[in-house]
Amino acid sequence: MVSMLGLQLKARVATFHEFRTGSGHTLDSGIALFFPAPHSYTGEDVLELHGHGGRVVQQMIVEEVLNLGARLANPGEFTQRAFLNGRMDLAEAEAVADLINSTSRLAARAAAKSLTGEFSKAVKTLDREVLDLRVFIEGAIDFPEDEIDFIGESEVQEQLECIRQNVADLLLKSEQGEVMLRGTTVVIAGEPNVGKSSLLNALVGEERAIVTDIPGTTRDTLDVDLVLDGLPITFIDTAGLRMSDDIVEKAGVQRTREALQNASGTLWMVDDASPDKEPDEAVNDPILEVRNKCDLTEREPGIVCELTYRISAKNRWGLDELKEGIKTMVGFREGEDAFAGRPRHINALKRTNTLLGRAKEELVANSPEIVADLLRETHTTLGEIVGETTTDELLGSIFSRFCIGK
Ligand code: GDP
Repeated sequence: MVSMLGLQLKARVATFHEFRTGSGHTLDSGIALFFPAPHSYTGEDVLELHGHGGRVVQQMIVEEVLNLGARLANPGEFTQRAFLNGRMDLAEAEAVADLINSTSRLAARAAAKSLTGEFSKAVKTLDREVLDLRVFIEGAIDFPEDEIDFIGESEVQEQLECIRQNVADLLLKSEQGEVMLRGTTVVIAGEPNVGKSSLLNALVGEERAIVTDIPGTTRDTLDVDLVLDGLPITFIDTAGLRMSDDIVEKAGVQRTREALQNASGTLWMVDDASPDKEPDEAVNDPILEVRNKCDLTEREPGIVCELTYRISAKNRWGLDELKEGIKTMVGFREGEDAFAGRPRHINALKRTNTLLGRAKEELVANSPEIVADLLRETHTTLGEIVGETTTDELLGSIFSRFCIGK
């Protein structure tokens, strides 16, 4: 620090100075900031140099710092050090990556909430509740003559049920965050020529998919990423499901079936003028029936009944109602407080829920030892979320996905 700047910096005070090489050449000038441990992002001594930027000069400064004995950080290393030095827990560390990678404002808000520790606090509160109950039950096992009568009593059962409810609530908020962060997939399927590509175009607002009136024009699946009121959704416009001898089209049909299987929901499009056509057997729930070309049938666009919408893709009629229906179909709830849930958090919360359900059954069956075991396992599972009980392998896989320098 002294050799590059030629002065000793005051802690946490921005100092404007020249950045020099060992031989005294000035590389750049800018702000130097020194954060002595433990009051820094990583909990270690941190020096920040804010230069003017630009690829060459930045590279020269990095080279000079490396000459002085530093090395480049690995992906996620700053955040990993912060976690290892107890500056943040694992869920908060993951939220750093989620915040950086947010693709919508809602996702960024959910990640910021997890980063400030709200999610971890909720998990730790649950953990404390589990621990209190465990202490009580283990006490009852150790001193049966004093406490055993209480075990089957409704108060303990109620407490267990209350914790389960809180887990279910947190799970819902995390799943909501997961949808917002990583997005979801919706397939547009139906007979050729019903207007699938036209609907996609209408949603995108530009001519993306190829629209013609020759059946089978959309030969392959076409993916389009959209953000619908803050919710990232990949729409897949599919080849029609009709049987075809054309090899290219056959491959398209196969891909359509795969897309249908992996999607969070399907828009089953039909021509409003045609008699009702049941969705193909390859289409899984949830399904919204979209009756298109209502400009020709002269019927009112909008919601027909809970899972049926009438639109005119060509005239963009009924799209606002349909968008609301799509959001509901993929499990998005307006105004719901979401956390930046990750699949590993969601899995751990689901396991917690199952363990607590089993504990409740064992409590009714009056097997306090098994209940205590199940609560111990619940504690370990909740601990995994915030990183109190995690393996090196898991940590490695989490931090390696960060971008370099974070
Ligand atoms: P796809 O094969 O299901 O993707 O259908 P396309 O989107 O290619 O549309 C087939 C034909 O229907 C085209 O000529 C479109 O212009 C027409 N079309 C699509 N939507 C509407 C609509 O809402 N009203 C009318 N009148 N024609 C439409």
